[in-house]
Amino acid sequence: MSQSPAAEAARRRTFAIISHPDAGKTTLTETLLLSGGAIRAAGQVRARGENRRTRSDWMKIERERGISVSASVMTFDHDGMMFNLLDTPGHEDFSEDTYRTLTAADAAVMVLDAAKGIEPQTLKLFEVCRLRDIPIVTFINKMDREAQDPLELLDEIASKLALDPAPLFWPAGSGGRFKGMLDLRSRQFLPFERSATEREQSGHPPAVPADGAAIDAYLSPGERDELLESTELVLGASPAFDPQSFLEGHMTPVFFGSALRRFGVEQLLDGLGAYAPPPRPVAAVRSGTETHVAPGDAEVSGFVFKVQANMDPNHRDRIAFLRLCSGRFQRGMKLKVQNTGRQLSVNAPIMFFASDRELAEEGFAGDVIGIPNHGVLRVGDSLSESGALRFAGLPNFAPEILQRVRVKDPLKAKHLRRALEGLAEEGVTQLFRPQIGSDFIVGAVGQLQFEVMADRLASEYQLEVVFETSPYAEARWVSGTDADLEAFSAAYRTAMAEDIDSQPVFLSKSGWETGYVAERYPALSFARTRERG
Ligand code: GDP
Repeated sequence: MSQSPAAEAARRRTFAIISHPDAGKTTLTETLLLSGGAIRAAGQVRARGENRRTRSDWMKIERERGISVSASVMTFDHDGMMFNLLDTPGHEDFSEDTYRTLTAADAAVMVLDAAKGIEPQTLKLFEVCRLRDIPIVTFINKMDREAQDPLELLDEIASKLALDPAPLFWPAGSGGRFKGMLDLRSRQFLPFERSATEREQSGHPPAVPADGAAIDAYLSPGERDELLESTELVLGASPAFDPQSFLEGHMTPVFFGSALRRFGVEQLLDGLGAYAPPPRPVAAVRSGTETHVAPGDAEVSGFVFKVQANMDPNHRDRIAFLRLCSGRFQRGMKLKVQNTGRQLSVNAPIMFFASDRELAEEGFAGDVIGIPNHGVLRVGDSLSESGALRFAGLPNFAPEILQRVRVKDPLKAKHLRRALEGLAEEGVTQLFRPQIGSDFIVGAVGQLQFEVMADRLASEYQLEVVFETSPYAEARWVSGTDADLEAFSAAYRTAMAEDIDSQPVFLSKSGWETGYVAERYPALSFARTRERG
């Protein structure tokens, strides 16, 4: 029996993992799910992923490059809490998708490789979290390997991220000499058992008091003195953990462990439950008036942060991922799409439990449900019972590369248009239709997006395409009064295009030209991004 929407929301933690490739995100995900009791055997995350990959052709890229192209959501429970883990693709070219996924997260776990510290991709993702005020929990992974001095790792967090690290645990050694860690608050020592590799977490011996004789079973007198000394040092050097400062994004609690050997992960999960924020009120506009939607509000509402096509190759489905913001969602419910006025009966919503996709009967703020649809729902859409709510839209990122796309078989031009629109609706790439001519201009943040696109056009739509350089360097969304817009369009007809929502876009040949027109037409605004809805 579920409780009130407010109480259900309060026990939810919706988070993402950010890391540089190879730091251990996949391994940690797997171990978290195991700790959460959501899956039975180790290796299932990867195995399931591979299984899916082999069934779906377009994931070839994912296999070949060893990167994860699609973000997924997984739900598991632990200790009375419901965790929704949003998986963020790690490759830098997928920044757009990753950024959007982070708009649906309330907290992030930053995984660092203990030997490498902060790497370029960690830094980039961290900056997005900071932009969105997402509090960050740090997990220093691979302690079972030779690591950097933990004090230096803390220094690096402080200097590179301008974030106060507050360790909640402190490790005893690393690599072959890794013996466990001290819980700085309870002063319990958690011994690490190397041979526990393939066992459950409980394969590690139970905690013992750090200040009694029991610790001698795990540490030599020299190791114990070293641990206690370095503990003194770190407690003297770092601020005490302040939950409020963490929520405000100034401080990060630091955990240590080994995702591979399932050590320290249970503690991380407990920390998320205790300190990470539950869903918070979200800024929105209701019938023209600014407001906040609270998780406990009666009206069901949410926003679409991701659309994915063909997750199940047997069905040509498209799934919109809806992050719920309020109310008690129930299967069969009717929701309205804010910017189209369309009504949608959500009869087969999907929740992503770790083991499988299941039909969701109920959902609350913080939950993510997948809504199968045929292109009605787009990234940035706001859904609610009244249809009167609009959440601050998700930005479209300014494309940095604009290319012309042509289909090799000219008879398939119409087909191409539909395919391009489909991919643009998913947010894979952006699509611009110039007012003159029959070309399509495709915009992306990174080169890899074009490869993904070509691959998907071939495998899902049987279209062989070529990309050609376009004369354009930048795209700007133009807005202003109708008269001003008309005058501008008339003067720059050959450079005007429409985006997928028929919004006017100026395709500029250079940064200089963009500056020039902006100066000549001061009444118009030339925006780098456009918020949908
Ligand atoms: P991702 O790219 O961040 O998803 O990283 P993976 O989870 O795929 O891990 C990259 C590599 O590091 C794999 O070979 C893992 O087995 C290994 N790895 C992950 N966590 C640990 C750990 O705690 N200890 C050790 N020794 N290896 C780990």
